[in-house]
Order: sequence, then structure tokens, then C-alpha cells
Amino acid sequence: AQRRLSMKLYNTMDRKVEEFVPIEEGKVGMYCCGPTVYNYAHIGNLRTYIFEDILHRTLEEAGYRVKHVMNITDVGHLTGDGDDGEDKLGKRSRETGKSVWDIAAFYTDAFFADEKALNIKRPNVVCKATDHIQDMIALIKRLEEKGHTYTAGGNVYFSIDTIDDYGKLAGQKQEDKLSGARIAVDGNKRNPQDFVLWFTNSKFGEQAMMWDSPWGRGYPGWHIECSAMSMKYLGETFDIHCGGIDAIPVHHTNEIAQSEAATGHKWVNYWCHGEFLLNDKGKMSKSSGEFLTLPVLVGHGYNALDYRYFCLGGHYRTQLKFSYEALDHAKSARERLNSMVAELKAKAKPESTISEKAESYKDSFFAALFNDLRCPEALAVMWKMLKDNSITEGEKLSLLYSMDKVLGLDLDKIEAKKEEKVGGEEEWKLVEERKQAKAEKNYQRADEIRKELEERGYIVKDTPQGPILQKIV
Ligand code: AMP
Ligand code: ZN
Repeated sequence: AQRRLSMKLYNTMDRKVEEFVPIEEGKVGMYCCGPTVYNYAHIGNLRTYIFEDILHRTLEEAGYRVKHVMNITDVGHLTGDGDDGEDKLGKRSRETGKSVWDIAAFYTDAFFADEKALNIKRPNVVCKATDHIQDMIALIKRLEEKGHTYTAGGNVYFSIDTIDDYGKLAGQKQEDKLSGARIAVDGNKRNPQDFVLWFTNSKFGEQAMMWDSPWGRGYPGWHIECSAMSMKYLGETFDIHCGGIDAIPVHHTNEIAQSEAATGHKWVNYWCHGEFLLNDKGKMSKSSGEFLTLPVLVGHGYNALDYRYFCLGGHYRTQLKFSYEALDHAKSARERLNSMVAELKAKAKPESTISEKAESYKDSFFAALFNDLRCPEALAVMWKMLKDNSITEGEKLSLLYSMDKVLGLDLDKIEAKKEEKVGGEEEWKLVEERKQAKAEKNYQRADEIRKELEERGYIVKDTPQGPILQKIV
């Protein structure tokens, strides 16, 4: 059996770093909210997926078998978080004249192209909301049977007053909720924080995506998809749920409310949230500031992995400010790393058994990651190791490959640095001839050849590895 190492994670639910204990020995079930495929992902969204990838890879290195599930939101996500606005895909369809299905397919492909370029491992299960409408209807029915829903104005709502711990993830207090700070745009809501489970009434008329249901033809609300699909693939209680911190107050709060109301027990053990990527205007978003995508960065001459390296340089729970200057730093650090790897590869093969000293670098690197994914610390250990002359080149290579299992910087794909060959074919023929002459003790001929080479602009030198040529400068 593989050894399992202890890991700590910050749990948003308890507001502290906790020892990770899985439900089932050796296995982890992890659900991550996926993209709403009405547009390209911006690099802020991608920061969150990189963080989830680091978590996935670190869990694997700690010895767990990870089942990573991610949804694709292709219906039901409205432009407003409070069930106001219109369906994001429907809006895009109206604006472009393309069908919602074509839009979803196009941006889903674009998303996976980004993920691939960033070396983000594909989740084990990728599930589309539109493929799981029946699972959502079944879950809504369960909620209805337990008295957690009401119908108003044609829509089915979840009533947050039917549970006593609504808002626990965000630490919202009952008084705050009732203070009237949030005013429902939707007059059908009994409580401003009630949310839609099923829409039959859309102020935008006929939707392209509609399904029959016990409550009429319509489409699901956004939150219900994550509850229905995560429970379908991971069970009614699972280990880890991830997302960006903006999901805490509404989306994840509502996911918890409906999931736990339906099952009557705890749903998720660890809630892990990634902080924002910022730009000059604050949180990076599709609507404020420059809409930065990975292809935009690549168009400016960066490699996608420069952006991955940039993200590794910040802890996932701290805000990270994007600038081209900062990206340049990441790019040059990655290039330095790559050229060091190329040089090491030219000189050595990865060592299969490594010294205690080398082992200690590996231990500190993973200790940093196992302690709530401290990537910047892990990177610092890697650089320190590279500068340490008391470990061999073969050991360094071997350590780099282990570290890259989490870093995901394609270090194993870097080619060994080729020694530049000095001198042309004719010069090397002369070198051979001189070697022969020396072997025959014909020193006069050997001297002549040396002079001829000098006239051609080269000095011939004898080294323990044989003769070499140096260009006269
Ligand atoms: P969306 O496609 O809008 O549902 O967002 C996809 C993911 O990106 C969600 O987990 C969001 O929480 C996350 N996200 C949105 N904006 C940012 C940002 N500026 N920085 C980091 N993550 C973000
Ligand atoms: Zn979700």
C-alpha cells in the first residue's frame, strides 16, 4: 500500500486550517464549480482552476486516489445572482444570432483548450447541466416533499426560512439577513434570499432550452445543478468542494441549503476557496477593465505556462494582482528554470536513489504543499535546491521531476542542452589527422596541422576527453 501523508487545508466552513481526513481511506471526492460557457474564461477564472489543479495533484502526491468532478454550466445561470436578469447563454444567443447549443459547445472547447495549455489535469468527470435535468427535477421533488419549496408566479422557490442554518458558510447571521440590506428584485420571493429552483416564467418569453417538469415546462435555477450532479457522482456526503470566493455568499450558500435540506445531513466536509485575481480596477471580471484571456497573453508572446508559474507564485488564499510586469518576472524565472534543466539534462540522468540531503529538499517541498498548498514556499525550496552544490546533477533532476508532478511545468519535456560544435567538417578532419600523426610520433606533421588550424581561426587543445577546438577571438 502507498504511504499516505497528512495534509492540512483551510476550511471556509470552520474558518481555520484543518487536518484533512477523508471519508473513505485513501480516496478523495472533490467537486469544483465549472465555467458558465457563454464566453471565454478570463485569466481570473483560470487562476481558480489552476488552484484546484494544484489541490488535485497535491492530494495525489499525498497518496490519495482523487475523483474530481466538474460541471459545465450551459443553462440557468442568470446575469444577476439574485435570480434577476436573463440566462447568460440566452442573452449571448440573442446578441450573436447563434444557437445556445453552438455557443455552449464553442466556449466549452475553448475552455478545455485553455486548461490543456495550462497543464490542468482534466477532472475525472465533466458533466453538463443540460445532461442532468432529470437529476435536478428529482432533487427539487425531494425538497418539495419535505416542505422546503413554494411556487409563486410560475417559479419554484427554495424557502430559506424552512431551515435554521442558512448562511453558515459565509458566517451570515440571521439578523443581518433580515436587516433588509438585500431587497428582492423578484416580488414573488417570500424572503429576499429565497432562490429559484425551477423557472417556468421567464420575462424573456420562450427560452431555447426548456424541459417538461411537474411544475411546467421550463428550466432549472443555477444552484440546483451543482447539488444534483455532485451527489450523483460523489455521493450524498463527499470530501471537498471548491470554487472562487465569490461563490461563498450566494451560490455555495444556496447549494448547501438545498443539499442538506434534501438529505437531512451534512453534505461537504471541506470547503476550499481560491482568492481573486485583481487588475487595476479590482477583481478581474468580464465586465470591468481589459477582458484578459489566455489567448490574449499568448498573442503577446507569453507561454501559457508563464501564467501558470505566475499563479504558483501566490498563495491561493491571497489576492494576486495581475500586471504584465509581474508576468514578465514569471516568464524570466521559468526560462531560467528551463535552461537549468536543459543543462542538467546534458550532464546527467535522473538519479534513482538520492542522498539524505537531496531527500530533505523533497520533504520540505512537499511539506509546504501539504500545509494548505503553500506553493510560493515550495518554489523557494526548489530554487534553493538548484543552487546547492552539495547534491549531484542527477539528484537535482530526479528532485525536479518529483516536484513537477505538482508544479506541472513540463520539465520532463525540456530537451538537453546541445553542446555547440566548434569548427566545421574540414577542421575536424585535420584534428583527426593530427591525432593520427601524434600517435605515429610524427610531431612535425602534427605541428603543421596545428598551424593550419590557427590560420583557419581555431586553436586545438588536448583535454583528457580528447582534442577540442576553440575559436580564436
Ligand atoms: P464563472 O464562469 O463566472 O462561473 O466563474 C468560474 C470560476 O472563476 C468560479 O469559481 C469563480 O468563483 C471564479 N472567479 C471569478 N472571477 C475570478 C477572479 N477575478 N479571480 C479568481 N477567480 C475568479
Ligand atoms: Zn456550483
